[in-house]
Amino acid sequence: MLVECFAAFMQITEIYKSLQGESTYAGLPCVFVRLTGCNLRCSWCDSEYTFQGGHKMSIEEVCHEVAHLSPQRALVEITGGEPMLQEREVVPLMCRLLDEGYRVLLETSGERPLEQVPAAVIKIVDVKCPDSGEGYTFRLENLETLIPHDEIKFVLSGRADYEFAREFADRHRLRERVNAVLFSPAFRKDAAGARDSSHCLLDPQLLAQWMIEDDVPARLGLQLHKFIWDPAVKGV
Ligand code: SF4
Repeated sequence: MLVECFAAFMQITEIYKSLQGESTYAGLPCVFVRLTGCNLRCSWCDSEYTFQGGHKMSIEEVCHEVAHLSPQRALVEITGGEPMLQEREVVPLMCRLLDEGYRVLLETSGERPLEQVPAAVIKIVDVKCPDSGEGYTFRLENLETLIPHDEIKFVLSGRADYEFAREFADRHRLRERVNAVLFSPAFRKDAAGARDSSHCLLDPQLLAQWMIEDDVPARLGLQLHKFIWDPAVKGV
């Protein structure tokens, strides 16, 4: 009898431990599993090194590495690239990590279907705004997959993005659907050296002013890791 053995291998760029930087979990120690490949090309993307390369790893190998980095079985973020491009492998990986007791975050653009993501996974969905060059790529059907522990993020480069985010959040009643709606200034992708807001494409102070004036039901988010480490450093 022919016995078929399916081992789920995925293409991984890196697995590392740092602080979570871009959600209500910001500041917590977190293991990042960064999958290779993305179907979008955001103008300010700081993860272009994930578009190609990487190496194949089985679920077993990924879990082993995660356990090595987080013996306390704390927080794990599945990110990319776009992790849901490897849905067939990444969904079983998330199930396995949940079974092992981790709290699991999934960072995704929401362009791929999210129906198969386990309910216990906290989705952090980065809805692309027009100035990213990938505006309107969010798959609207994914709104129905959102549950109260999920979070929606908008990375903003200027006033047009802000207006887009505000209108989108309002039209789709995001604040009623998710734990947090985050407005975050985009960083220049060539940012290096100084660990301050001078690299932001939209001044956080100006964004704060708009949000206060409009009484926006959203939270201002800053990419924490860009203020702790040199913005050019990867794997932090
Ligand atoms: S979706 Fe993420 S990884 Fe892909 S291009 Fe945009 S910022 Fe980069």
